[in-house]
Formats: sequence, structure tokens, C-alpha cells
Amino acid sequence: MNQAPGYYRYKIGDMVLTAINDGFARRQLEGFVRNAELAEVKAAMAQAFLPADALNITFTTLAIQSGGKLILIDTGNGDSGAPTSGTWLANFRAAGFDPKDVSTVVFSHFHGDHINGFRLKDGTAVFPNAEVMVPAAEWAFWMDDAKMNAAPEAMKGAFGGVRRVFGPVSKDVKQFEAGKEILPGITAIAAPGHTPGHTTFALSSGTARMMVMSDTTNHPALFARNPDWSAVFDMDGPQAAATRRRLLDMVSADKMQVAFYHAPFPATGYIAKSGNGFELVPVQWTTSI
Ligand SMILES: [Zn+2]
Repeated sequence: MNQAPGYYRYKIGDMVLTAINDGFARRQLEGFVRNAELAEVKAAMAQAFLPADALNITFTTLAIQSGGKLILIDTGNGDSGAPTSGTWLANFRAAGFDPKDVSTVVFSHFHGDHINGFRLKDGTAVFPNAEVMVPAAEWAFWMDDAKMNAAPEAMKGAFGGVRRVFGPVSKDVKQFEAGKEILPGITAIAAPGHTPGHTTFALSSGTARMMVMSDTTNHPALFARNPDWSAVFDMDGPQAAATRRRLLDMVSADKMQVAFYHAPFPATGYIAKSGNGFELVPVQWTTSI
């Protein structure tokens, strides 16, 4: 049975944010966390009242309406993900948006679940009028043929995917450096480890602020709770863990609202300190903003 359309609106100052869900992919727990025993991972799942065998990894992108523009941060799986994903476009339309009205697509990093929604398998560009903005460090890594050739066989597909998605627009892609305001009220923050150019985004409008945490954690019940754990998707585990602690410390101290790409929908809330780690405290659903 289907749910109601998976979109959720909230405001940060004058910015209107819409969280848009792209379904989920089911992942066996065995081997999922590199540096923890399976029994510990299962215990963390039980503590969060989650199943003991597998994790549903959800995908939630953000659409931002600001200054008359429609800006996306990441695009979901498109038609390239798990059969239980790919709900993004229907949810985006249900929220009242049209892909041709997107002015800018900003990417946090180049994993397939974030970029494949930009281009369908048959090559169709989903956002024909959008300018494309990517982290310079991410572009430098994934578009480097020497790095692709040197990569383990299992990673070559990811390099190929990046070329499939961005190849046709590679001349027009705008690369941005971390630490800069890349669009009005949107500042890129370097958050390396998950990937070399993985980026989070600080939003600011009036006195309101928020941090888009991207893949700083995978499911918060595992990785906010245990920030030193590394999911198999973290390309540099120790660096990802250091980034995770730094950002989680910052947003909890500053009481900033956060959004995580892989948190339970609507994937936004606040971070509280808890034991040696943190926990995500979800926002309260509201009927109007
Ligand atoms: Zn991801």
C-alpha cells in the first residue's frame, strides 16, 4: 500500500525548504559497519527499536525556494537505484514543483544515490534549465582518469556513474570551493572523509540558520549515536569520523536545526549530546508553515 506523498515543508527565515523522499534501499547489517562487531551494531539497532537483520536506508533531498529561485541539494537515485527507491520525481511533482523550474542543482558529493536523479538511464537530463554546482574537490577526484584507473574494480562503476551523469554537461558545471557562500544564504562547508569532496551546507536567512549535513552520518541511530563507527560507504573512515564529531559537536553546541540525507523522513531535527555520542531529535510535524 502506498503512503501519502513524501514531501515535507519547513522554513528557515525566508527560505522555504521542502524535504523530498526518494524511497529506501534495504541493506544487510553484516559488514555494514567497518569497525564494529555485528553484535554491537545489532544492539544499537535494538536500542533504536529497529529490526535486527537489515536497515532501510532512506533518501531525502532538499528543495529550497529562496529569492525567487528553486534550488535543489542532491537529486536522489533517479531510475538507477533499488526497486524500493525512485519515488523522488512523483513526490517532487506532488509538492507542486516541475523539474523545468529548477534553477540550480547543488551536489554534496558524487555517490550514485545523490547524483543519479540528475540524468535518467536513457540519458535524459531531468532538469533542463538548471545550472549545476559541484564541490571542486569532488570533481577533481572523480573526474581524474588516473584515480579511476588506480581504483579497485569494485569502485570503477562509481567513477563510470559520475561520468555518465556529468559528462554531457561537464563544460557548464560550476565548481565551488568550500568555505564560500555559493548562493545567497548558502555556504559550502568542507566535510571530507565520506568522499574526498563531501560537503555540507550552512543555510542562513535573517537570524535563522541551519546545517544540511548531507552524509555526515548514515542512519543517525547508528552513526550519531556512535560517531566513531564507519559505514562501508565512508571512503576514509578515520577522516569521516573526525568530520562527523566536529560537525555534530558544532550543531549541538549551536542548537542548529539539521537535515541528514539518510535520516528517517522528514530527515530534519536537532542534535543532542548523549553519552559518548549524539542523538537526532526530530522536529514536530506541522500542518502549516
Ligand atoms: Zn548517500
